[in-house]
Amino acid sequence: MNTYTGGCQCGAIRFRARGLSHHASICHCRMCQKAFGAYYAPLVSVRQMEFEWTRGERKIFRSSNLVSRGFCGDCGTPLTYEAPDGMAVAAGAFDDPAAFPPSIQWGIEAKIDFVDHLHELPGERTEADQEAESFLHEIVSNQHPDHDTPDWPSGAHP
Ligand SMILES: [Zn+2]
Ligand SMILES: [Zn+2]
Repeated sequence: MNTYTGGCQCGAIRFRARGLSHHASICHCRMCQKAFGAYYAPLVSVRQMEFEWTRGERKIFRSSNLVSRGFCGDCGTPLTYEAPDGMAVAAGAFDDPAAFPPSIQWGIEAKIDFVDHLHELPGERTEADQEAESFLHEIVSNQHPDHDTPDWPSGAHP
């Protein structure tokens, strides 16, 4: 059985999903834009999967009478969309988001026009920005690595 792990940016919340059946989508609705602070929300349904929280407890915002949005209360990473018919997890929160290519777009009535043209924009690699060189040289990441850890922050429990 396939196992997929993930969590929030700071590592306070971690989860594990097991199973084969997964359905990934992008939602353009205004609620998802706002909840993710993004142009659209990438979501992986875990309805048919075995899902468990392995570290920490998400916070919940009830975005409507029927839907709850889970997120990390420490770092703010959006984590879930929870409806009466099941839960979906933010695709980017998985350790390997590339494992869930989306197969459908929802809420296209709210789609922001330029989203269809993002791939036409000029692109640059991070290291190509010469002015950011010293910034990149000095940066120390506090982001949780893309795999489970026995302790986090590492060394917190010697
Ligand atoms: Zn967090
Ligand atoms: Zn939505």
